[in-house]
Amino acid sequence: MNRRFRIPESVSYVLKELSSWPLSSAPRSGANPIRELHIEVTHRCDLKCRMCHHWRLKDRTPEITPDQLARMLDASVRLRGIRTAVLTGGEPFLRPDLSELAAVIVKRFPGISLGILSNLSNTGLLFRRVDECLKKGVTRLWLGSSLDGVGPAHDRVRGSRGAYTRLMRSAREVRTRYPGMDLAFNFTLLPSNAGKLVEAYLAAKEMKIWFGAQKVVNHEGFEAETYSWTRQTLSTALDGIDRIITDICAENSAFEKLLAKRESETPWLWSSLIYWLNLREYMTEPRRFMRDCYAGRRYAMLSPGGDLFFCPVRKHRTVGNALKNGFDAAWTCPAAEAERKLIAKERCHCWLHCIANPVIENAMERRFAPRRKICR
Ligand code: SF4
Ligand code: SF4
Repeated sequence: MNRRFRIPESVSYVLKELSSWPLSSAPRSGANPIRELHIEVTHRCDLKCRMCHHWRLKDRTPEITPDQLARMLDASVRLRGIRTAVLTGGEPFLRPDLSELAAVIVKRFPGISLGILSNLSNTGLLFRRVDECLKKGVTRLWLGSSLDGVGPAHDRVRGSRGAYTRLMRSAREVRTRYPGMDLAFNFTLLPSNAGKLVEAYLAAKEMKIWFGAQKVVNHEGFEAETYSWTRQTLSTALDGIDRIITDICAENSAFEKLLAKRESETPWLWSSLIYWLNLREYMTEPRRFMRDCYAGRRYAMLSPGGDLFFCPVRKHRTVGNALKNGFDAAWTCPAAEAERKLIAKERCHCWLHCIANPVIENAMERRFAPRRKICR
């Protein structure tokens, strides 16, 4: 493969050291405890991203209402330990009653971390919805969005001219209007935008916005564009990842910290580097890095109509309906158990932030506990 960028020796040393740290234990298939509930509140969206199936879906199943959500949560024992809820889509801000859904959750789980994943394409609508949420007492609110390049590169992926300008305007104004609110950008690596990874990283860095990346998923069971990688596009992606890893190492004196045996001071730094290191590996040879995947145990994910699934990659493999039968019945049904057993066989793989980050954080906890808590 024809690579242009060579990582410095000090960075190679850091990566070699980190790749020897154990990531996760042998797979298990037990069902508890659920820590995160992800709800796709709609399939509707005002963008037409190339890799996305949501806007292409003809599914007109009614979307989960605040009353249905309240009844489902009240009846469930399995969901009592959730610490994070994520409202996603489609574009969640298109739901006029989004703040009611959020309030239903927060009322039952005071102090819960509540995320909304949005394309941030409509700044006015974003403010209206976030203000409605805040008025209803939703306090620990954070936003996640996608940045897939700078300028027209982002627009091409998102299928909408001006999407980049609107996204960045929203991001800047979120910073001003809600100074304490966390905001994160995720980059979907496609063969066509791999060369734009570094400039997107730098744009996010300049705005002090958390930035991650993941390889596009060719979703089975849904209509969307699918992707294959040539040697050239793969090499471009790896180049970008290496430049980012090098920048993170330099900014945070990773090599010096390892040499001085001060690694327990910055577990978040190793978490970030381990993610990027494994993304690099995953691009080259996709396989399961986390033996013990938490899908089907730590996470519950619902479609707008209440269908339960366990992971964003296997979302076509729904196991039951949480609105019709109750969440706990869907969670414990034979189809759910069978799906967990399949996952534990380690035949599927992915490397996505939502799934990998908790695995990495647990690995850091095992490595550094009880010396210090790991999250920034
Ligand atoms: S913004 Fe999100 S939901 Fe909308 S089309 Fe793009 S990827 Fe799909
Ligand atoms: S695709 Fe990934 S998240 Fe889904 S079950 Fe397999 S390893 Fe886990």
